[in-house]
This record gives sequence, structure tokens and C-alpha cells, in this order.
Amino acid sequence: MTTRAMHRPPHETRRAAARVTASNWREHKVCTHSDFDLFMSDDPADQEEAKEICAVCPARHFCLQFALEEKVDFGVFGGMGPDERMRLRGCRPRYLSDRESQWKRAIQQHAPELLALRAKGVPSRDIGRQLGMQPATVNRALRELDD
Ligand code: SF4
Repeated sequence: MTTRAMHRPPHETRRAAARVTASNWREHKVCTHSDFDLFMSDDPADQEEAKEICAVCPARHFCLQFALEEKVDFGVFGGMGPDERMRLRGCRPRYLSDRESQWKRAIQQHAPELLALRAKGVPSRDIGRQLGMQPATVNRALRELDD
């Protein structure tokens, strides 16, 4: 069984995710019983495993929003590591070496929400508010998704 399947919450479906709100998202965390160190590790392999757990978490959007708003600069939150979140906030990552692929992965994670909101005619500023991103980051992400 894959990590993702092991952590798939039996009763949490897409409909359940729709019930998650900014005030109750912590009740829906799927990492509650996971290895805390996995989420706090600096090891890329551990971080990837943590992100797989986040990928099936119905609270992911609000968790990421929390980490972005609180400027949490450690650990995996909302499916992203600290440097990926810094990029979303429009900050320079701590390490500039080979982060472009992480940026692209982060954008791909948000691609469905970004494209759906743009299709509805939502301005970049409001998309940014909803996804916890700077408007410039939203514009850059949409440009890259169009390429
Ligand atoms: S998205 Fe947040 S709450 Fe959900 S599994 Fe990841 S770290 Fe935990």
C-alpha cells in the first residue's frame, strides 16, 4: 500500500473537503497521527513523503493559508516546504541553488484552483487573497501555466 493510500481518510471525500472551513480545518488534519518529524525534517525524501500525506488532506488549502499568513519558515504545511511557501509569498528562498523545479511543482499543485478562478473572471488580487499568494505571484503562475 502506498503512503498516499495509507493516509487516505476513509470518510473524507471531496464533499467532506468542501465542509472544511478556516475555523475548523484543524479538525480535518490527516497528519494528526503521522510522524511529526517527517513534517519537520530537512531531508528532501522525508519532505516528499509528508507532501504525499498532504496531497490527500482535505484541510490542505487552509493549512497552507495558515502557514503563509503566519510566515512559518520551517516544515511541510499544506503540501509545501518552507522554500516553496516563501516563493508563493514572493520572497527569495533561503537557498537559491536549484529551486525552480520546486516552484513549478508548487504552481502545479495550485493549477486547478488558479485556472478555475481565472475562468470565473476573478482578479489576480482576489485570487491571491483566496490562495494566500501575492498578485504578482498569481500572474507569474498563470503565465507559466499558459506556456
Ligand atoms: S495539509 Fe497540513 S494539516 Fe494536512 S496533512 Fe499536510 S501538514 Fe497536515
